[in-house]
Amino acid sequence: MERQKRFFLEERDIPRQWYNIVADMPVKPMPMLHPATKQPLRAEDLFPIFSEEASRQEMNTADRWIDIPDEVHEQYKAYRSTPLVRAYGLEKVLDTPAHIYFKNESVSPVGSHKLNSALAQAYYCKREGLTNITTETGAGQWGTALAYAARVFGLELAVYMVKVSYEQKPYRRSLMQTWGAQVVASPSMSTKAGRKILTDHPTYQGSLGTAISEAIELAQTVPGCKYTLGSVMNHVALHQTIIGLEAERQMEMAGEYPDVVIGCFGGGSNFSGISFPFMRHTIQEGRKTRFVAAEPASCPKLTRGVFQYDFGDEAGYTPLLPMFTLGHNFAPAHIHAGGLRYHGAGTIVSQLMKDGYMEAVDILQLDSFKAGVLFARTEGIVPAPESAHAIAAAVNEALKAKEEGTPKVILFNLSGHGLIDMSAYDRYLSGDLQNYQLPDEEIKRNVEGLERII
Ligand SMILES: *Cc1c(COP(=O)(O)O)cnc(C)c1O
Repeated sequence: MERQKRFFLEERDIPRQWYNIVADMPVKPMPMLHPATKQPLRAEDLFPIFSEEASRQEMNTADRWIDIPDEVHEQYKAYRSTPLVRAYGLEKVLDTPAHIYFKNESVSPVGSHKLNSALAQAYYCKREGLTNITTETGAGQWGTALAYAARVFGLELAVYMVKVSYEQKPYRRSLMQTWGAQVVASPSMSTKAGRKILTDHPTYQGSLGTAISEAIELAQTVPGCKYTLGSVMNHVALHQTIIGLEAERQMEMAGEYPDVVIGCFGGGSNFSGISFPFMRHTIQEGRKTRFVAAEPASCPKLTRGVFQYDFGDEAGYTPLLPMFTLGHNFAPAHIHAGGLRYHGAGTIVSQLMKDGYMEAVDILQLDSFKAGVLFARTEGIVPAPESAHAIAAAVNEALKAKEEGTPKVILFNLSGHGLIDMSAYDRYLSGDLQNYQLPDEEIKRNVEGLERII
């Protein structure tokens, strides 16, 4: 029989709704708290910063299904459905009885899953009469996705890019500029927060915390401008469920259902996206599927962090979020999977982790690149260093299946390609990269300072 490699949905079968797992969760996530009053936040409290619709979605615990606006659905057609691919090449070289599938989000025009939420967030800002949006970007993937989305919906975008990345990742910067975004190296002289830091430390290379402060200040001072985030928040996880909803139908076309679902983990958006639609069958029907988040050993919030209220940013400007965290002052080592260098996990995934619906593994940097290269040599696609963590976890699952002699269906999310990250592969191939495992003392030191609210 002819064997099928890739599974696609017709345009008309692209899902029309996102899945809000909170409506199905037996234990809801604890509320976000106002940093000063420690009172639970309401959606209205977020209106000055985020679009009103994103703010409402953030707090929505009631509606299981949320309509994808037609305008966003129309834009999804530029790259969706994304292919579900059976990794025959990888299976063969691993000599495993496991069936390995991956959902290929790298085919989006920006090269990652982040566009799924960028399009939704930009659209809501446009619909609410705004003219400008802003954000910060570290490694550059979120800024890139938002630049595309701002162009599509006719918004002006200012991206505060951490200065060291601005200088070291010129191609991400020029991608954003190609789509018409204004990219500002942070700290900059254009905001009070930036001016203050530059006055005190003229050679400061920037941090995500400073870039966030600059973007939020812009959103609060420029009329018609709001702020957006590419991960961690509940509404971002919601938008990403398009990944798993498509995958669910594509797996059906393949005649299979996953035993293990795997995603790499930064703040949790692509992991949530691939997992939640399958997890709903676990919650509703008691189906047995394992959900595995793959995080870097240098930034192990799920495997070794604490569950606590903590700030979402280094500077402590955001609401307090109930999450697995390494402490907001934690400065992750400079591994090449920039998108995974975040101290905390989103509140939904954190609650699911606490309640035993999912598990986490940590992956060493060299193991992630080894898996990335193996994947490139067997399936042809050079994965993003972030996605390579999911591949490493999938390889481990496939080897375990071989050891145990049991067939098993593995599904992982290929969150992005690595074609703009070749300097990282360069260093790996020339033997220039190291492993970094976070010492216990450092975790202890960072979480000790957290306020004990739980
Ligand atoms: C941003 C990014 C990630 C990590 O973010 P999540 O919110 O955890 O998904 C992973 N992969 C790629 C390609 C990214 O751009």
